[in-house]
Order: sequence, then structure tokens, then C-alpha cells
Amino acid sequence: MAITEKNYPTAKKVVVVGAGIVGASIVYNLSRRKGVAVTVLERDEPCAGASEHSFAWLNAFGKDPVSYHHFNRRSMDIWDRFARRLGMDLDLHWGGELRWEHTPDRAEALRQRVKLLQARGYPTRIISKDEIRGLEPNLSPGPVTIASFSEIDGRVDPLKVVDACLQQACDNGTVLHTQTPATELCLNEHGKIEAVKTPSGEISCDAVVLANGTATTALAATAGVHIPQQNSPGVVIRTDPQPPILQNVSALHLPPIDEDRHEIHLRQSADGTFAIGQGSQESVDRDDSQAHADSLLSRAIHYLPALAGARAIPKPVGYRPMPIDGLPVLGFCEAVPNLYVALMHSGVTLAPLVGELATLEIVDGARVEMLDPYRPERFRSAN
Ligand SMILES: Cc1cc2nc3c(=O)[nH]c(=O)nc-3n(C[C@H](O)[C@H](O)[C@H](O)COP(=O)(O)OP(=O)(O)OC[C@H]3O[C@@H](n4cnc5c(N)ncnc54)[C@H](O)[C@@H]3O)c2cc1C
Repeated sequence: MAITEKNYPTAKKVVVVGAGIVGASIVYNLSRRKGVAVTVLERDEPCAGASEHSFAWLNAFGKDPVSYHHFNRRSMDIWDRFARRLGMDLDLHWGGELRWEHTPDRAEALRQRVKLLQARGYPTRIISKDEIRGLEPNLSPGPVTIASFSEIDGRVDPLKVVDACLQQACDNGTVLHTQTPATELCLNEHGKIEAVKTPSGEISCDAVVLANGTATTALAATAGVHIPQQNSPGVVIRTDPQPPILQNVSALHLPPIDEDRHEIHLRQSADGTFAIGQGSQESVDRDDSQAHADSLLSRAIHYLPALAGARAIPKPVGYRPMPIDGLPVLGFCEAVPNLYVALMHSGVTLAPLVGELATLEIVDGARVEMLDPYRPERFRSAN
């Protein structure tokens, strides 16, 4: 049976599985509604999953197709309102994103991307080498064939966001269980979830939200729902705190130095530490060694000599929640109508919007049209 507006479920007792940035935003938004009792199950501590490993660049730069680009853009546009409501320091900074290229093929790819983004109305533009220096005087860019600046991009600290959301939600009456994994979704004879099993007992519910990142696939399977994912490891290292080296931008993408020293992305947080990753936001990287961390830092020093005294701090590999087609999975499941899935890459960019829209669907029984491309049913034929 198709889910229509009429039979779309409304809920009172909601269990949210997972306290990363996506789960925390949903929990916070749910907790603002009267008459909704929210329980959060987190198998570890809040922000223990991908959110802790994220580069946390708020952007719609490489997001395709166009509907997904606009989806990310819309979330960027509501980030400030979300932050204002939370009313705490989130290290949210809107300084834009800067990048440049010096080889002809990469320069042409960037030129095409800028053209496409401008056609979508994204405020990205080609800038000169002098403008690079104006934005970031400590950069030593070397030869520049083309450079771009995306002025509305930002960055945030996911840990602070999760803390703020959960603090507010708990003030609103939400019950948070840490070190408590959800191990099974228990169905009644009508095929709806009546309880979530944990090692300390079952929790009854009217609806369940799966916001447990890479572990969503296994838990959804206990209710017979298929949510396929790809394995997407990534590494973002840190440095020790540095004086302010970056003056303006929220994120930098630096070109490859040579065939062995690939491109990197980096940013500096308010506490002075740098976060550095290799390749793009989606690049696969499994190397969490000190040697790899040193190599990432040495590439950063090549372009930012002021980083020369910094120490590279390796970080464990992080695993991106990555649906098999790369697009978010959002919404109630037809087969299990009180099971709501919230699985996605770019969850740091998307958290404010997803929290707001999921709440409309879970509490008000709305069916938000904007979410139609992301419904879990698209994987049904793979069952
Ligand atoms: C290296 C890397 C770089 C990234 N860069 C960016 C970026 O620049 N910009 C951007 O927007 N996004 C980026 N992302 C993606 C973004 O970080 C994720 O999409 C986002 O953090 C997902 O949040 P989440 O809450 O869905 O999942 P998670 O943060 O993984 O949270 C899931 C939580 O569920 C808990 N859990 C799992 N199973 C259970 C269970 N059975 N019971 C109870 N709890 C459970 C986990 O412990 C975890 O705390 C990056 C990700 C990585 C790894």
C-alpha cells in the first residue's frame, strides 16, 4: 500500500536511535513540540560516529543533481536560524571557501564547475591571485591558472552542535540513554514497530527514527527493511593549536603539489587547531598513521608556511554514512509504516533542514514534497 497523506502515521512516543548531528537535530526539533515524548538511544557517547570525524564544511559545492544541490543550499540558508535558537557557541563561521588549480585539466574542471554553480544561482566566482592574497595574506599559492571563491560556505563544530541540541532537548524533557545500543526492532502482528530492544530491556514506542549512521543498514534489516550503503572511509587529521593563520575563509582546497602529493582540504577552528583531509569531501582514505598525518601537514605547509611549527595529530578512520546512490534516505518506510529513516552523507550541512522536515513528517503527519527523491522505497526492488 502506498503511503498517502491520509494514512501517513503521526506519533507521540518517539525513539530516536543515534546521537550524531543528524539524530541530535531531529531530537531537538521533536522536543520543541508539545505532547511528544522523545527517547534517544546512543550505543556509545553522543557524536561518537561520523560526526566526530567530519571536516564539517557547510556547502553545496559538489552536490549533484541540481535538486540535491538546492536541498543542501536550503539547509545552509537555515543554519543561522538553527544556531540562534540553540543559543550556544557552535564555532559557526561563514567565511566562504577558496580553491585554485595550476594544471590545465583541473583548471578546466573548476571553470566548468563554477559555471554550473553560477547557473544554479550559487554565489561562486572566479577570482585573481591578488584576491587570494587579499583573502588570506599568509597563503603562498605558487602558480595559479584559475581560482574560485564560494562566499556563502561555512564551517561548524559538530560536537558543539550535538551537545547544544541534546542539552536543549533534555531541558525539554527528552530522555537520553548513552552506552545503550538498540539491538532489534520488534514488530507487532500488523507489521509496525511496537518496541525497540536494548540490552537493558525493551522501550515501547509509536515511531522509531533510525539516525544511527553506518549501522542503520543492520538495524533496519531486523524489521525486514533494506537500506543499502557503500563503505566510505575518510581521514581528517588535526594539528595542535596555532595562532590565527587563516584570516577569513572557512575552508580551503589546495591543489596537488605533484603526482605523489595529492590535493588537500583544510580549515582552522576558533581554538586554533587545523583540520586537514586528502582529496575531496568524499575521497576514500584508510590511512590513520602518523606518517600520513605528517604528509598531510607538510602539504599544508607548502602553501601555508606559517604552519611550519605545527604538530600533526593523526585521527582514527571515520566512516561516512553513505547510501548506495550517494543521496539521503529520508522518510517513513512503506513496509514498516512507523519506521523513519534518516541516513545521509553531508549530514553536517543538512542537519538543520533534516531536523525540521523530519519533525513535520513525524509529528504532523505531513508529507514534505521536497523529500520525495529521498524515500527509502527506492531500494525496494533490490529486496
Ligand atoms: C571524513 C569525513 C569527512 C566529512 N566531511 C563532511 C563535510 O565537510 N561536510 C558535511 O556536511 N559532511 C561531511 N561528512 C559527513 C557527515 O559527517 C555525516 O553525514 C554526518 O556526521 C552524519 O551524522 P549522523 O548523525 O547521521 O551519523 P553519525 O555521526 O555516524 O551518528 C550515528 C550515531 O549512532 C550511534 N549508533 C550506531 N548504531 C547504534 C545502535 N544500534 N544503537 C544506538 N546508537 C547507535 C553511533 O554511535 C553514532 O553516535 C564527513 C564525514 C566524514 C567521515
